[in-house]
This record gives sequence, structure tokens and C-alpha cells, in this order.
Amino acid sequence: FNVRIEALPGEQDEQRSALVIFRDLTEIRRIESMRVDFVANVSHELRTPLATLHGFIETLRGPAREDIEAHERFLEIMEQQTSRMTRLVTDLLSLSRIEAAEHTAPDHEVELRPLVEHIAAATELGSARRGIRIAVDIDPNLPPLVANSDEISQVLQNLVENAVKYGRDQSTVTISARVAADLPASVSLAAEDVAAISVSDQGDGIPREHIPRLTERFYRVDTARSRELGGTGLGLAIVKHIVSRHRGALSIESKVGEGSTFTVFLPCKAGDVIKPQHFAVG
Ligand code: ADP
Repeated sequence: FNVRIEALPGEQDEQRSALVIFRDLTEIRRIESMRVDFVANVSHELRTPLATLHGFIETLRGPAREDIEAHERFLEIMEQQTSRMTRLVTDLLSLSRIEAAEHTAPDHEVELRPLVEHIAAATELGSARRGIRIAVDIDPNLPPLVANSDEISQVLQNLVENAVKYGRDQSTVTISARVAADLPASVSLAAEDVAAISVSDQGDGIPREHIPRLTERFYRVDTARSRELGGTGLGLAIVKHIVSRHRGALSIESKVGEGSTFTVFLPCKAGDVIKPQHFAVG
């Protein structure tokens, strides 16, 4: 607490009084410490590839100057490190752009199917090398989302990329979507106005104790593995911010040794749900 005492001036004969102000600094300190941690994390994430680049430049100038075979290998590593820094900066910019818009809610009608099909086709070009198939299962009765189409594409892309990255070779990643049957407590819309979009993988799964922290910036279950697979540690933080800007929710279910399902709940156009028809026969 921060306490301030101020004497209040009274009229000549009036009893003098004082004003005591208590200010709870817990939240301010928490935000300040998060900011300091964030800057430290970003610096660390950038310093590692920069140090690697610096090391290879020195080697190419010195001991490996004449070794043409080494040049190719070193340039490839330098290229990977540069791409990693580019991805990090792109993710940081996305995050700050979304945070700046967090207090506004997107309001366009967005058809989910073309976005999903585009991402599935683009991902499968790369994932097929590891025998990973992308299956799509979207309820044809799903109404359009009330959303920002670029942001929803980014959510899908981050989730599908993770499912492939952390999925097993020769497995299937499934993207499915339907009107939500059950809603998490954090969603205040009616169930028939909410789409549940899931991305499931057949990967190693995530130990339960890590799940609540996965959407924190730079939180990784296995940092070395994430870096090796080209991760920035920001993908799920971006997903969380986009979903919360849409007044939706994210739920994560996972079984170690079996795989994980990430479900996003997003508002869809109310009143368009085609309910099953029941006909009396006879
Ligand atoms: P990264 O760039 O490291 O993948 P993310 O923010 O996308 O960062 O994910 C954070 C962490 O959550 C990952 O490092 C990984 O440990 C874990 N994770 C995310 N998606 C999955 C998944 N489908 N299966 C297993 N672990 C996952």
C-alpha cells in the first residue's frame, strides 16, 4: 500500500481535519514486473540468434575462409537464425497490434469454411513430408462468425501449425467446427450463437500442470524443442488475445501420450442456426 495524508484546511474556528489516501499498488507492481519480464525475454530471444550469427561471421572471416563446403553449411544456419528473428519480430508486432485493439469487438460476418480449407491445403503441402494428414469436419449448418477474418486465420494457423509441429509422424490433425453444445463459464453468449472450433492432434500431449500457463508469452513446455522446431513461444499468447478481443474463450484438453485438442469459442450470427426438424408420421 501507498499511504498519503493531507491536512484539509478548515475555516477559522472549524476543527481541522485530515484526508488519508490508501492506494493498493499490487496491480501496478504486477503490471510493471510483467513489463520488465517481457523486455528481458524479448532481449534474450533476440540475443541468442544474434550471437550465433556473430559467431559464424567471425568463423567465415577467419578459420573457415577457404573452406567452401563449410560456407554452405554456415550460410544455411545463418539463414535459419535470420528467419527465426523475423518470425519473432512479426509475432511481436501482431501481439502489440491486437493488444492495441483489444477494447473493440470485430463485427464482420465471416464464413469459416474457406479460411479453414485454405489453411488446411497450405499446411498439408509441408506436413505431408512427415505423413501428417489434415482432416476438415465443418458442420454445414454453422452460421457465419461475427469476427475479423485475418485474425481468425491467424488463430487457425497458429493452432494448426502447433498441431503439426507437436504431432507424431504419420498422424492426422483434425479441424472441426460446429455450434457449441456446452460453453465454458467465461462465455456469456447463448449457446446457439457460439461456434466451437477445434484443432486436435495425435501428438505427445501436454502434462496437466503446464496447461494453465501455455498462453503466457514465451511459456514453453520444452524450450529447446520449441526453438528447434522454429517456435517463438508467442503463438498461443496471440491466440488468447484474438479470442478475448472477440469476447470468446479458449479451452485446452490434452492427454499425455495421446494428443491435444485446442477449442476456440467464437460468436456467430444469431438466429441462423437450422434446428433439426421433427415430423409427425402417420
Ligand atoms: P511455440 O512457438 O513454442 O510453439 P506457442 O505459444 O504456440 O509457442 O505454444 C507454447 C507451448 O505450448 C509450446 O512451446 C509447446 O510446449 C506447447 N504446445 C502448444 N501446442 C501444442 C500441441 N498441439 N501439443 C503439444 N504441446 C503444445
